[in-house]
Amino acid sequence: MQTPAPVDYARATSVEHALELLERLGPESRLIAGGHSLLPMMRIRLAQPECVIDINDLTDLDYVRVEGGELCIGAMTRHAGVLDSPVVGEHYTIFHDAERLIADPPVRNRGTVGGSFCQADPAEDLAAVGSAVKASVVLRSSQGTRTVPAREFHAGPYETVLGDAEMLTELRVPIRPGATSAYTKVKRKSGDWATAAAGAYVVLRDGVVADVGIGLTALGAPHFCAEEAEAYLVGKEPTEEHLAETGRLAAQACNPRADQRGPVEYKLHLAGELTQRVLRQSVARAEGRA
Ligand code: FAD
Repeated sequence: MQTPAPVDYARATSVEHALELLERLGPESRLIAGGHSLLPMMRIRLAQPECVIDINDLTDLDYVRVEGGELCIGAMTRHAGVLDSPVVGEHYTIFHDAERLIADPPVRNRGTVGGSFCQADPAEDLAAVGSAVKASVVLRSSQGTRTVPAREFHAGPYETVLGDAEMLTELRVPIRPGATSAYTKVKRKSGDWATAAAGAYVVLRDGVVADVGIGLTALGAPHFCAEEAEAYLVGKEPTEEHLAETGRLAAQACNPRADQRGPVEYKLHLAGELTQRVLRQSVARAEGRA
C-alpha cells in the first residue's frame, strides 16, 4: 500500500493556533513539519492520523540564536539551516558533523529539528547529538510550557514523553566555555541511516577531562547516551588507554539488534570504536590539532 488513507488537513498560522487545533482535533491528529518521516509512515499506513496539522507557516520557530548562555534552535529550523549556521558551528561542531551525514540535500532542506526529535527513530542522528550535549527541549501546550532534558524526552523507539496536545518548540544547549565536540557515523552507503553513530563533547582543564558527554544512535543505548562511560572519563587525562576503556564502557551501555546492517557483535565493536574516535577528535579540536 503506497498511498495514505484519507486524511483531513489543517494549516496552523501560529504556535497558539497549532496548540488550539491539537486540543480541538484530539489524539488522532498529528503535526506535520518536513513530512519526511510522517508521510512515508502514512503511505505504508503505519501511521493513520485523522487529521494532519501543517506547521510549515510557523517561520518564527525557524531560528538559531544564543540566549541566556544557551544555544537555542527553533523546532522549525531545517537540517540545512542548522548546517548553514555559523553560530551553531562556533559553539557545537558536533551538529555540523552530524548534519553533513544526515540523508541527502533534499531531505535536509525539508526535515526539521522538531520533527527529528519527535519522530524518535532509534537511528535518529539528532537524538544522539541532543543526548551527547545534554540538551533540553521546550514543550508547549495550551496549559503552559515545560522544559525536559533530551535524555528524558525519548521513552523508547518511536515514543516520547510529548503529550497529545503538546508541541516541541525549541532545543536548548548550555554553552560550555572551551567545549569541543565531534560526531561520526558508519553507514552502508551515502544518504543511508546509521549502522552505528556516536557523538561527544569534552571540556579539558589542565590536560584533564573536566566534563564530557557521549551520545550513541542505532545501538539501542537507553536515552541515546552512555553515562557510565562519561563518569569514568571525568577527571582523567584523555590517553589512549583511558579512551579505550571509555569506549568499552560505552559499548556496554548498548543493546543493538542484528539486522540487514550487521550482526550484534559488529555493532558493539562500532560502539566502542566510534566513541573513541569522537572523543579523540574532540580532544584534537581542543588542542587545535583538527
Ligand atoms: P515530520 O515527518 O513532519 O514529523 C515526524 C513526527 O514528528 C510526526 O509524528 C510529527 O507529528 C511530529 N512532529 C513534527 N514536528 C513536531 C513538533 N514541532 N512538535 C511535536 N511533534 C512534531 N534522519 C536521520 O537522523 N538520519 C538519517 O540518515 C536520515 N535519513 C533519511 C533518509 C530519507 C530518505 C528520509 C526520507 C528521511 C531521513 N531521515 C534521517 C529523517 C529526516 O531527518 C526527517 O526530516 C526527520 O526525521 C523528521 O523531520 P520532519 O520535519 O520531516 O518531521
